[in-house]
Amino acid sequence: MTYLPAENRYDSMLYNRCGKWGLKLPAVSLGLWHNFGGIDNFENGRAMLHRAFDLGITHFDLANNYGPPPGSAEENFGKILKQDFSAYRDELVISSKAGYLMWPGPYGEWGSRKYVLASLDQSLKRMGLDYVDIFYSHRPDPDTPLEETMMALDHAVRSGKALYVGISNYPADMAKEAAQILKDLGTPCLMHQPRYSMFERWVEDGLLDVLEEEGIGCIPFSPLAQGLLTDKYLKGIPDGSRATREVFLKKEDVESAHDKIVQLNEIAQNRGQSLAQMALAWILKDNRITSVLIGASSVKQIEDNVAMLQKRSFSDEELGQIEKVLKK
Ligand code: NDP
Repeated sequence: MTYLPAENRYDSMLYNRCGKWGLKLPAVSLGLWHNFGGIDNFENGRAMLHRAFDLGITHFDLANNYGPPPGSAEENFGKILKQDFSAYRDELVISSKAGYLMWPGPYGEWGSRKYVLASLDQSLKRMGLDYVDIFYSHRPDPDTPLEETMMALDHAVRSGKALYVGISNYPADMAKEAAQILKDLGTPCLMHQPRYSMFERWVEDGLLDVLEEEGIGCIPFSPLAQGLLTDKYLKGIPDGSRATREVFLKKEDVESAHDKIVQLNEIAQNRGQSLAQMALAWILKDNRITSVLIGASSVKQIEDNVAMLQKRSFSDEELGQIEKVLKK
């Protein structure tokens, strides 16, 4: 089957600038952490990428360790790129990251120049790419000077293997320092990728202010709290859902969030949208947010989530009702 992208793919998506920089990302980006690995259904992943691109999602987010097994999401993505998207490389923003464990020994994780640059080479090979658009330090390394990790990112750009760089999971003070080091090196920090959802709001305590001051974009991951902020778990844990795997999302997480989910779902219904749509719109209401980085296990979830763009604004009353539930 030959894939031909929809001709109207740019008609309804919204594109936001990464901080003060020229690059724009779709308001909804798709991440390949789950459901694109070697253990997953390849054709389902392929169908999701097709539909995402047809809906104007031009940004696909990967990392060295996505799978399982680690590396397999990049391999599968590389196959799909070659098969279906080779004519559209310049319409895509592809990101990858290094920071988590990839191979044994002292050079297989964290933030040394040795690891970060070797990992980028491996990612490019797996995806069959000459360069990634955004390359991230996936997590701060407490034992490596920040200069070293930032110098590795700067080198990635200077060697033509990345167009832009970013940081992920860095607290506000380290993000500020990293941004300064990168500025001094002449390779500015384009993006920060933090965890942020209605249920995890640490970025509101300083990080978003730093990003605004520095002109850095923000692309929150797990904006649906891995599926908790959807109607999926309203009546228990359905077969095949992430919580059944008990690895990243646990049964206790579902149980402890249940009452809030029920109440938030009611607010969403009164707004005429699904809970997932409301949770995404709620993040995007802050104009410091460039894009929400969703995951999905089906084409339908991507369609539902993108349809959020039709209703993004909130009344003060709705915001008050949401705060009341979240503060309980
Ligand atoms: P989400 O919070 O968007 O969770 C995605 C999951 O929610 C899906 O797999 C699906 O669960 C469920 N879901 C999505 N849409 C719907 C819907 N409309 N209705 C019902 N259920 C829905 O994000 P992720 O946690 O998957 O993270 C997204 C991306 O962020 C990752 O792929 C990765 O690129 C990035 N990320 C980055 C990290 C970092 O450290 N930088 C860490 C984690 C993620 P189910 O599979 O059960 O159907």
